[in-house]
Amino acid sequence: MALIVQKFGGTSVGDLERIRNVAGRVARTFDEGNDVVVILSAMSGETDRLLCMAEKITEFPDKREIDVLVSTGEQVTVSLLSITLQSMGYKARSMLGFQAEILTDSKFTKARILDIKASRIKGFLAEKNIVIVAGFQGIDAKGDITTLGRGGSDTSAVAIAASLRADRCDIFTDVDGIYTADPNICSKARKLKRISYDEMLEMASLGAKVLQIRSVEFAKKYDVPVQVRSSFSEEEGTMVVYEDANMEKVVVAGVTHNKNEARITLSKVPDRPGIAMQILEPIAEAGIGVDMIIQNTRAGNMTDLTFTVPKSDFEAAMAIERKIAEKIGAAEVVGDKNIAKVSVVGVGMRSHSGVASKMFSALAAENINILMISTSEIRISCVIEEKYTELAVRTLHTAFNLDEPV
Ligand code: ADP
Ligand code: ASP
Ligand code: MG
Repeated sequence: MALIVQKFGGTSVGDLERIRNVAGRVARTFDEGNDVVVILSAMSGETDRLLCMAEKITEFPDKREIDVLVSTGEQVTVSLLSITLQSMGYKARSMLGFQAEILTDSKFTKARILDIKASRIKGFLAEKNIVIVAGFQGIDAKGDITTLGRGGSDTSAVAIAASLRADRCDIFTDVDGIYTADPNICSKARKLKRISYDEMLEMASLGAKVLQIRSVEFAKKYDVPVQVRSSFSEEEGTMVVYEDANMEKVVVAGVTHNKNEARITLSKVPDRPGIAMQILEPIAEAGIGVDMIIQNTRAGNMTDLTFTVPKSDFEAAMAIERKIAEKIGAAEVVGDKNIAKVSVVGVGMRSHSGVASKMFSALAAENINILMISTSEIRISCVIEEKYTELAVRTLHTAFNLDEPV
């Protein structure tokens, strides 16, 4: 007998028929003699629908209220699955984040899990219930509802698996594993049998939304065996594992893209010590994450500073920078939402040179202009015009020999 955590994403619980399919899978795992804890997302499209309604009322809705609003999506699916399982003759109990004692900090809309007590989950399991927990949500020290950022149900699942010391955490989704690129835009993408935690961390942070980055951090830190697999087939999925010597042989494991960032440029900024801090500190104080930053020097002791922020924070960041530009005497603030970031990722890069030049020449051969570049030990990212995203992903997939099975 094992303790198994199963997470089902939005498409997998998109309607009653699909919830019935999920119930069938969960019941089978239970019938095999296992304890089962299920984590669910909201029905696909529901979180967006709720956010859209709030944004119709006002441009910057209060984040505490947003969390109260969007957490309702998961409340619907957990109760419907519980009712379905009960109608099939199983004992089932649904729980919201606060009932499962998922304690987070108070950063509404992007809270981090601090602790999970899970005593009630354990109690329900001891009574032989199938336990169904609402993903994406928690509660802060004051008792306010929080949510964990888009895609946060993955993190709920892995964190609960860690806290229960589960034997397995299966992430069921609408693709049958982790691929060398998003299979929905690159038809030649191949399914990986295994991927290292570090590669998956980079891929998740660079836009491969198949797993939320925090879920991979939890999995690595607490040694949770995570498998990504399909809700709709019996195919074996992809295991996320520790790196081994064989992985070093593959220079690039995958190509990712991210269309969710925008860039902001402050031009003709007086070039003096402390200026970058003056420009970027208020952005951090507003809880907005800055990803890439570049600074170009101009003649006449002037500089241009460009950085990227999530598209969802673009308007707020522009408002902040317009005020700063006035204060520090910058000539203008220009924003551009039509950008995308394409990246190549692989632990093998540590021991291979020439990856960057291969990437740049592949993009150049397709006449794709590079707007910004950043690198780490195991990845290279380029910001390009958004309209070239799909072409760039396919071009890099071919250039790094990912089209052919290894
Ligand atoms: P869920 O609702 O189940 O959480 P998501 O939409 O969040 O599902 O994540 C699954 C999606 O991730 C896939 O449909 C696919 O388009 C996308 N994706 C991006 N990169 C990859 C990748 N490298 N491998 C597999 N899927 C990927
Ligand atoms: N429902 C949330 C979202 O759409 C959380 C999740 O699906 O993981 O982002
Ligand atoms: Mg997801």
